[in-house]
This record gives sequence, C-alpha cells and structure tokens, in this order.
Amino acid sequence: MGQRNAFFANQTLKMRFQLWFGIVIIAFAFSIIVPYYFIEKKDRIDEAENQLKQVISLQSLYIERWNQEKIDVIKRFALSDNAKFHRIGDLKREIQNYERVNSEFAMISYVEKDGYIRSDTNPTNQMYVGDRDYFKYAEAKKNFISGIIFSKESGKPIITFSVPVLGDQNEFRGAVVGIIRLEMLNSLMKQLSFGETGEVFVLDSDGHVVTASTDSSKSANNVQSQMTSEIIQRAKAGSTANYAYTGFHGDRVYGQYKWSADKTWIVVGEVSQKEVFQRLNQLSITIIIISLVALILSVLAAITIASRIEKPIRYLLRATKIIQNGNYDYQINPDKIKTAPIELRELCSTFNLMSERLKTNITLLEHSALVDQLTEIHNRRYMMLEGNDQLLAHIAAGHTCSTMMLDIDHFKKINDTYGHLIGDRVLHHVAALLKKYARGDTLVARYGGEEFILLALRRNAQDSVALAEDIRECLQNEPYVSGQLTVQLTASIGVAEYSPTLEYGTMILEDMVSRADHALYRAKSGGRNRVELDR
Ligand code: GH3
Ligand code: MG
Ligand code: MG
Repeated sequence: MGQRNAFFANQTLKMRFQLWFGIVIIAFAFSIIVPYYFIEKKDRIDEAENQLKQVISLQSLYIERWNQEKIDVIKRFALSDNAKFHRIGDLKREIQNYERVNSEFAMISYVEKDGYIRSDTNPTNQMYVGDRDYFKYAEAKKNFISGIIFSKESGKPIITFSVPVLGDQNEFRGAVVGIIRLEMLNSLMKQLSFGETGEVFVLDSDGHVVTASTDSSKSANNVQSQMTSEIIQRAKAGSTANYAYTGFHGDRVYGQYKWSADKTWIVVGEVSQKEVFQRLNQLSITIIIISLVALILSVLAAITIASRIEKPIRYLLRATKIIQNGNYDYQINPDKIKTAPIELRELCSTFNLMSERLKTNITLLEHSALVDQLTEIHNRRYMMLEGNDQLLAHIAAGHTCSTMMLDIDHFKKINDTYGHLIGDRVLHHVAALLKKYARGDTLVARYGGEEFILLALRRNAQDSVALAEDIRECLQNEPYVSGQLTVQLTASIGVAEYSPTLEYGTMILEDMVSRADHALYRAKSGGRNRVELDR
C-alpha cells in the first residue's frame, strides 16, 4: 500500500497524463472489442448453422428426388405388360434398350417369385436372392429402396431398388430389381459444397459414411468405418445442440444433420470452426490495430498536452525556488510559455506581478527595519549590522576606527517645558544636524531615546575628539527654531577608539560602545556640554 502510494506520489504530471490517457484508451477499446466479439461470434455460429441447414436440406431433397427417379424407372418395368404377363424375354429386351441409353444402373434384373434370378442363355446359371430384404419387401407387395448394402458378388457398396410385379388378381409374380453403385451418388454429391471447408456427408442409419461431397475416394472406400463422431450421437438422439466438435477430418467443426424421410439416411453438413471464425478474427485484429494506433496517437497527444502544461509549471516551480532563495524580483520570461494554456499564462503573469510587489515590499520593509521613523536617520539595528561589518572590514584593512556616543543634556526638561511633541521635533532637528556628518567614512544612527551613535571608520581618538567637538559646537550654535519658539540645547559626547582587547562587550562594536558610554558618563558628571575620551 505504502509502496503503491509512493509510486503515484513520484509520478510527474507528464507520466500521469500518459498513464491516464493510456488507461482510458485501453478501457475504451476493450469496451468495444469484448461485446463486439461475443455478439459477432454468436452471429457467425448462427450464420454457419443456417447455411449448413440449407445445404443439407437441399442435399436430402436431391437424394429423395434421385431415389424417386430411380424407383420410377424400376416401376416402369415392373408395371409393364411384359412383366405382368411374364414375357421375360421381352422384358429383358426392354431393359437392355433402356440400359443402352442410360448407364446409371449397374444392373436391372427380373427376380422370379421363387427368389431366383435366372440367366436366359444358361438356365442353370441362377442366383438366389430370396433372402434379401428387397425381395421380401416385393413379396409383401411393397416398393423398396435400400440403404447401403454390399454386393454379394463384388462386395462393393450398392443401393438397391425393387418393385413387385403383380398379376391380374394382384397376386405376387416376381420383382424387378435395380442396382446402382455408390459412385453414382458420389458424383451427385460433388456438385454440393460450400465455403472453403464446408462438406456434406451421407451416412446410413447406422452412422456409416456412405459418401461425402469432397474426397469421394476416401469416403466411398471407407464406408465400413463408422464415424464415432459427436454428430452421429446427436442424430441418433435427435439433439439440437450446435457447439463445435471434432469432425470427420479430425479438426474442430460445426455441424448439422438431417434424416431422410424413411429414416434410412442421414445427411450431415460440417464446416470448420476456423472458417467460421476467420472473418471474426480478422475484424478483431483490425479493431485491435486501430485501438493500438489510437493509443499511440493519444499518448503522443498526452505528451504534447502534458508538456504544454508541464513546461510553465516547471518554470513556476523554478521561479518559486529562486524566490525562496531570496531573489525576490525574479520574473518568468513570458516568451517561453507562449503555447501554454491561457490559465497557466495568467498564472505566470500573476506570479510575475506578485514577485514585483514582493520585491517592492521587501525593499520597503528592509529599509524601515534599518531606519528610525521619528528622526529619519538609521537606527541602532543598522549600526549593529552594517556598522559592525564595515568596522570589521576597516580594522582588517589596518585602519584605526572610533565610536562616539552623544546624549542630549537635560532632555527631560525640554519635554517637560515644551511638551513631548516639541521634544520629538527637537530630536528630529538634532538628527538632521548629525546627518551632515554622516558621509564618507562616518556612519550615524539614533541609538535610542535622546542618544545617538557615530562610527568614524578612519579616525583615531584624537581626530574623533576633534570631530566630536565640532558636533558639540554645532548643536550648541544651532538651536531648534519653530516660529516664535527657540529651543536651546547642548549635548555631551563620549569617544572611544578601537582596541584589540575586548573589555566589556562580546563584539568589537559592542565593546567600543560600552567604553564610549563610560566616557559619556564622565562628560555628564563633568558638567555636560563637553567631549570626553575613553582611556
Ligand atoms: P541628562 O542630561 O542626564 O541626560 O538628563 P536627561 O533628562 O536628558 O536624561 P534622562 O535619561 O533622565 O531623560 C531622557 C528623557 O528623554 C526621558 C524621556 O522621556 C525622553 N525621551 C526619550 N525618548 C524620547 C522620544 O522619543 N521623544 C520624546 N519627546 N522624549 C523622549
Ligand atoms: Mg539619556
Ligand atoms: Mg540626556
């Protein structure tokens, strides 16, 4: 579960697009192929079944009609006057005349009522057929068409037709028998086949193959070999099942059967399963190929769409990382995302606006964090950061530096006399005067309350004391003036030079400030309005 989540969590936008497009297309293809396959399969089988049924009914109709024609020929001789009045010589001539123009019958004979066929040239040459079915039927005054029987002489499969010869009083006087060899039926069968593998078999009532529409030599010679095929079981049971089975040639086939009217024949039609499904398989393959092409195209589309969406997102991601690293005014180049969707272009331009405003606000914030609002000069924080950095750099460069702490004398009194508002303005006035000295190597800041700090970066104690004197005089000589009001003021200044050994603070600047404070204290206690150097 955790692994699976990790798998999805690590996927990029592009991979997800490809994955989902792929899944959608495959699902779509399957939703078409699967139902199509089953519907089409049923259609194919139904179609094959109908075709088989048509072919075998046509075939059995043929056989029935063929049988009828043959029995009609025999009937003509049996009902002739020559037969009726036992003019056998004339009857035989009549038959010979017929056989001269029609070669279908292997033999047409007259059977005496005692069951013998006698040759007229040699009366001793006679054959007894009284035990045969066709004779027994004739005796019972019935027409007869055999199934397959085997010739007593040749052993070959034959079909026998017999019609009784009846006298005036309808008494049995003999029979006319006609024999046809199976080859005659085979040639008829050959006219019937269908499809590439469709085949029609004629079986006798025991399930022996009598003849087949193709490969007649095989079937005619193998008459004795019984088909142990499923279709015989179905025919014998009268089943209407239509699933595939192993056919006569050993491959899977669909088949149908039809019994002849007198139940002496079975006509079987078979068509290979392969042929039935051939078109189905071709169509399925076509659909699968189309789906694959669609899959490839949609993956390509997914890649294109994904890269159009992914590219600006990647730019955005990079831009946010750059901002995170403190480069607040970073801008995304709009030319690089021209092809992106409108929403993403808007997102990028909003991002650019945002980073612009961020930069302005941060500049403002940075400025106000280092500038004192009341006096509009730098604050103590600025001095401890920027001042300290510059101090270290200058000391490292071998310069001597000094710090001055300035405190307005009796400021409390100014507040008390003129009010806090005037006090504030006086502080602003003092800061403005000090600002004049904040140039070049001198940094000025309000340290807190009415205290100011100056950092002289390239001055030794002596120079700094001189500068402090200048400042002290300047403050004394330039009182705060507003309309009628003049506020006279003085300040005390403590000066300390850089010393490599720290005495008070943990930082150089901190230590110098402490020492300047000491000097300032001495200036205050020494009478105010004066400059003192730390020693
Ligand atoms: P000293 O000569 O000993 O320095 O006397 P002082 O009155 O100047 O010193 P003290 O530290 O007693 O008083 C400083 C006064 O400065 C107290 C405080 O009210 C006032 N002050 C500090 N910050 C401000 C400010 O921002 N505005 C105004 N108006 N007054 C301030
Ligand atoms: Mg003070
Ligand atoms: Mg003071």
